Formats: sequence, C-alpha cells, structure tokens
Amino acid sequence: MFTFLRTRLCFVLLVSLSVAGLAAVRIGTSWVRDIPPHGEGLVPAAVLIAVAASCALLLITGVLIARKKGSSVLPEAGRLWSIILLSALCAISCSMLPRYEMSALPLLILLNAGAFCLLWAISRTFSLLFWWIFVSLELAQIAGYTQYGSRINSLVIAETIEASQEEISGYLSTINLVIALSSLLGAAILCWLLAWVMKHCKDRLPLLNAGFFFMLLAGLLGLAIPSSQRHARHFWPYFEAYSLIHACTEAVFHNQATIRQVEGLHSPTEQPSSLHTLHGGEGVVVIVHIGESVRADRMSINGYERDTTPWLRQCPRLINFPRCVSAACDTCQAQIAILTDARRDIYEKDPALRPHTGSVLDLFAAHGFRVFAFFGKRNATHLKYDLVVRLLTRCAEQKIHAPGSPWTSVPQMADILRSLPKKQNTIFFINNEGSHTPFYHYNHENPPFHPAGTSFETPSSHAEEVNNAYDSTVHYTDEFVRRVTSLFHGRPWLYLYISDHGEYLGHDGIWGRAALGESGRSYLSTTGCYVGAFILSSPELEALHPHFASSLRALQRHANMLIAQEHFFHTLLGFFDLRTPWYNPALDLTAPSPQSYTGPHPEGEDGQEAAH
Ligand SMILES: [Zn+2]
Repeated sequence: MFTFLRTRLCFVLLVSLSVAGLAAVRIGTSWVRDIPPHGEGLVPAAVLIAVAASCALLLITGVLIARKKGSSVLPEAGRLWSIILLSALCAISCSMLPRYEMSALPLLILLNAGAFCLLWAISRTFSLLFWWIFVSLELAQIAGYTQYGSRINSLVIAETIEASQEEISGYLSTINLVIALSSLLGAAILCWLLAWVMKHCKDRLPLLNAGFFFMLLAGLLGLAIPSSQRHARHFWPYFEAYSLIHACTEAVFHNQATIRQVEGLHSPTEQPSSLHTLHGGEGVVVIVHIGESVRADRMSINGYERDTTPWLRQCPRLINFPRCVSAACDTCQAQIAILTDARRDIYEKDPALRPHTGSVLDLFAAHGFRVFAFFGKRNATHLKYDLVVRLLTRCAEQKIHAPGSPWTSVPQMADILRSLPKKQNTIFFINNEGSHTPFYHYNHENPPFHPAGTSFETPSSHAEEVNNAYDSTVHYTDEFVRRVTSLFHGRPWLYLYISDHGEYLGHDGIWGRAALGESGRSYLSTTGCYVGAFILSSPELEALHPHFASSLRALQRHANMLIAQEHFFHTLLGFFDLRTPWYNPALDLTAPSPQSYTGPHPEGEDGQEAAH
C-alpha cells in the first residue's frame, strides 16, 4: 500500500513538475525579453514563485528516489560547506555587486552554490569549461569597468569586431595584458578548487538535490526582497551569463542586420536617370569624404576654443554645417545613411524612413564619372564588418589603401589623378581612420596639442592627454583636407565632408563610445550625435555652370539649419541636377526651401525616444 502511494505521489509530482516547468519557461522567456540588458529590470515575483515551486517539486522527487534507491539524499555536510565557501569566494571576487550592495551577498552565494551543484551533476568536468570562461570574463570585466567605465556590452563586442590591428594594439598595454593573464589564472584556480571539492561526488542525485535545495532557498530569499528593489543584477551568475550571451548575439545580430540591409538594396541606376549640368569631359573632381568620430563641437570652425581646424577656418569658400545630426553611433549605419536614401538607423520602424535604394555613387558612375575609393590602412579590407562600405563603393574601379597614416594616401591620389585624362570627371571616395580610437593619427613628432596620450586606460584620469590626442587627430584631418584639395588646383572640384558619428571624452558624462550603453542614454539624446560636416569647392566649379553657382548660394543660405546625414544623398544629386526618381527635393540643401531634420536629437522633444 505504501509503495503504491509512493508511486502515485511520484506520478502526481512529475505531472505538476511538468506544468510548473512549462509555466516557468513561459514566464522566464517573457521576462528575458522585457528586461533591459544592463540589469536594471525588476524580476517579477511570479518568476521566483515558479522557480521555487519547480525546485521544491524536483527536490521532493529527488529525495523520494534517493530513499527508494537507498542512496544518500544530499552530499555530506563537509562537502556542502565547502561548496558554500567556494560560492562565497566566487561571488565576492567575480560579481561587482558585493562592492556596492553587500546585502545581496547571501542571495548570490545561494544562487552560485545552486549553479555549481547543478552544472556539475549534469556535465561533470565539462562544467569547468563554462566556469573558466565565465569567471575569466567576469574578472576582466571588473578590471575593464574600473579602467574604461564600460562593461562587456554589445557595443564593446561590435567595436571589437570592427577594430583594426592599430586599435587593438592601442589597448594591448602591459597592464591590460597582466589583467587578462591574471583573470585567466584566477579563473583556473577557482576551477581547480571546484574540481577538488567535487572530486568524490560520484553519485549525481545528491548533487542535484543539493542544487535544487540551494535554488529553492534562493527563490524564497528573492521573494523576501521588496519588489521595487528586486533587480535582475541581484540574480548573479544567471542574469550575468544571460547578459554576456545577449551582448554577443546582439552584436552579431546587429552586424548581420546591417549587412543584410545594404545587401538587399538595388542600385539606383536600375531606374532611368539623367545628368543636366555635365556632359563628360569637364574634368570635374568630386570628393566624398566620410570622416571618423569627429564631434562638431571639437572643430574650431564650430566655435571650439582650441584651433583644431586652422586651415578650414581660413577657407573663404567654406560652407560649414555646425548642426548636423548623425544617424547612429555606428560606422556602418552612418555610411548607409550618408550614401543611400536611408533617413535613420537600421532599427527604424517607419518604412518611409528606411533605405529604398543603394549608393548615390553608382549614379555618378553611370553618368561617366570614374570612381576611386581611398581607405585607411586596414579598413574595408577583410573584416566582415567592412562589407557594408565595400558594397556601397562597389562602383569604384580601384580600392586603394593608405600604406601608413591617412596622409600617405595623398601621393596615391596624385598618382591616380596623373594617370587619368585631364578632362575625365572623377569621384574620390575617402574613408580613413580619422579620429577613431585610440586617437592615433596625428603628427607624433610635432603634435599640435601636447602632452598627447593615445592610451585609453582610465581615460577620465588621463583626460588632458586623451583630449590632446583627440584634438590633434582633428587638426590632422584639417591638414589632410588641405593637402587633398591642393591636388586639384586649377580644376573644378567639390569636396563633401561628413563624419560618421561622434565620440565621448567626458561629454554627457560618458568616456568612450562603448560606455554609451552603460550610461542608459540613447545616442540621439547626447551631444555626441552632432558631427563635423562641411562643403568646399573651387571657383572653377562655380564658373563651370550657373546651376553650380546657385547651388553653392543655396547651401550657404541653409548652412545653419538643423540637418542630418539624410540630406547628403539628395544634396549631391541636387547639386549636379542629376535627376532620378530617388531624388527628394525636400532633403536637398541646394533646393530653394529644404526641410530641416525632424528626427530625435538632444534639443528635440523626442530626443529621448531613440533608445535601442
Ligand atoms: Zn566610425
């Protein structure tokens, strides 16, 4: 009779367990979807009740099975204490929480002990691989947070995917190498201790029971925390492991989504188009320069007190756009917004604001311009991330990489120019390292602003050096533009410059673009979204056609408008009177009355709505 009852009880328990498990998975997945990745989200009581109920049922089942088998219900007391001590060590050294909220420690210890037992019971020594990677990342993350103010988030991973060898070498300092090695060693020591504690646990059942017991206690303890303070970050290491995986998948997803968007675009040349100002043989040179990480407010042409743009400042023909908003804090998305008819970033929901056609450069190539693309030393080479700019410059007959700093591309441009017939209409597309971290490209022998430090370690405590290095890169770009334009002396030329996104050097309380995610602010609500943008031209171009002269006058009239990267596709078409169904006069700054930018920006009412 007792055996029968026990069997019936087991059956009922298993059915309830399945129902509870399904409910937990259902609630858990919706929770994971709703929760922001930086851990500020609150954990609903329903999730904890489901977890505690499931663990209680599993524990009861485990105890009954152990008694039936005549084996021990739990590991011996000494081992349990060792597991708890090791969990305490792990939680204190690897989670950032005990440094700020000691009260969370008991919960962390119980959750960690549960994870130790369950993972070891399921996968034995394979679980060490998880702990080694996880603990290494956590230790490195604490050091990274102290140094750079940023945790490992999707932007950091996306930046790492994008990083060139120079950028990576900028971070490979002795201290960072020591931190990385220490993290790996610390994680290895913890794994060795875990293996030592678990080495005699041959039977899985007592360990599973112990795991469910710890999780049950953690669930109950979690319920005791007031609901308004039950933050996801208190549920370390589970939430943290989820955050790291989420950051990786988001970076990869984001990367794929950006590439997919540009791959799906048809060339604008598939529609009929006509060019009304040039017939070929005028020798016009159009330079389209996408800059890197240049904030508008760090250029002296925009009132910055340091003279970072001395040459531009004295250019009588400069048409400067001091209020230009960039579409995204991301190189590729900005390239799409500049070169195609996209008006916002890749996450834009309004179909009207998404891109509908490919690169504007294709249209010029179709009307007799020969296109040459000049890249930095490494960008647009082999990285998958660079595929976007490679696709957008598909019409370039040659892609040329600077052998050293961006200045070294100037003789290459001169060579190309010499090799072409003088009357050939040409486009030079430029996209080099500019002012990208680690702010390396400036004249190191004679830096205009010194002492300049290119190391980005604890930038806030090296604020002066980092700012000097950044300003020196802007100064370098000013000289780069001077050198490039000097190549076209006597010819009709137009130079369009626009930076991809800004940078943070303590602006808006943020140090480095990767720390933007930590700030909890959207890119378009910060001053980092205003980027350098200007147009230069030669008198020869103005004299070539009355349309060019009137376009230049219109540009000058509209220079102080609030504009955005969305204007450049249509402005380039409008300037040359290149007619295509893709052209929108409302976004053409050479048109009589263009529309200003109406999207989110720091001064706008909807500036806070641009979070992704
Ligand atoms: Zn960039």
